[in-house]
Amino acid sequence: MVEEPKRTIAYLCPSCRQSVVVEKTVFSLAAAPSAIPCPCGKSALKTEIIGDRVKLTVPCLFCEKEHTVSCSTHAFLHEKTLAFSCAASGLDCCYVGEEGPVFAAMKRLEEAVDKLEAAAGAEGTFIDDVIMHEVLSEIRDIAQRGGISCACGSREWKLQVNFSSVDLFCARCGAALRIPAATADDLEDICCKPSLLIHGKEA
Ligand SMILES: [Zn+2]
Ligand SMILES: [Zn+2]
Ligand SMILES: [Zn+2]
Repeated sequence: MVEEPKRTIAYLCPSCRQSVVVEKTVFSLAAAPSAIPCPCGKSALKTEIIGDRVKLTVPCLFCEKEHTVSCSTHAFLHEKTLAFSCAASGLDCCYVGEEGPVFAAMKRLEEAVDKLEAAAGAEGTFIDDVIMHEVLSEIRDIAQRGGISCACGSREWKLQVNFSSVDLFCARCGAALRIPAATADDLEDICCKPSLLIHGKEA
C-alpha cells in the first residue's frame, strides 16, 4: 500500500496561545475547503484552493486579527516548508509543509514568542491585568499554605511573570511549571488547585 502524501499545517491560536499542528492528506486539502480548528474551539485556520492558488485565512496571535494570505497550489501541496508572516509584527504566523521542518519552525517560533512574553511581563504588560493579578494572588495563597513544591523534593522556587502566563521555576533542579494567566478559564483552573507541583526530576 502506498502511503498517502500528507501536509503538516501549523499556527498559534490567539485565544489559548497554544500551537495547533495538524496533518492533512493532500487529497483532502485538494478536495474541498478545510478548516483546522484549535482544540479550544476559539480559532480555526481555513484553507481553500481556487484554481492554481490557495487562499489561507490565518488567525494571528500577534495582532489578534486574521490574515488572508495566498500562494500557488503547487507550493502549498509540495514545498518542503512555507512560512507566512504577520505584516504587523514581522513574525511568522503559519507554516505549511513536511512534518519535520514544520515542527522545527514551530519550535523556533514558540521560543521567540516565549522571549516576547517574558519581556512584556518584565515590563508589567499583561494580556489581561485583572486576570494576571488574580492568578498571582492565587499563587501567593497556595505558596503561603506551603503548597508549591517540585518533584525533585525541593520547596524553593522562583517566579517569572510573563505577558499571558506565570512560570514557576524550581530553585534546585531548574524545572519549570507554566501557569496560564490569560482568560477567566485560566483563573478558574488555578482557583480549584490546592497545591502546585513542578515536574522536576524525581530524587
Ligand atoms: Zn486555542
Ligand atoms: Zn498578525
Ligand atoms: Zn526541582
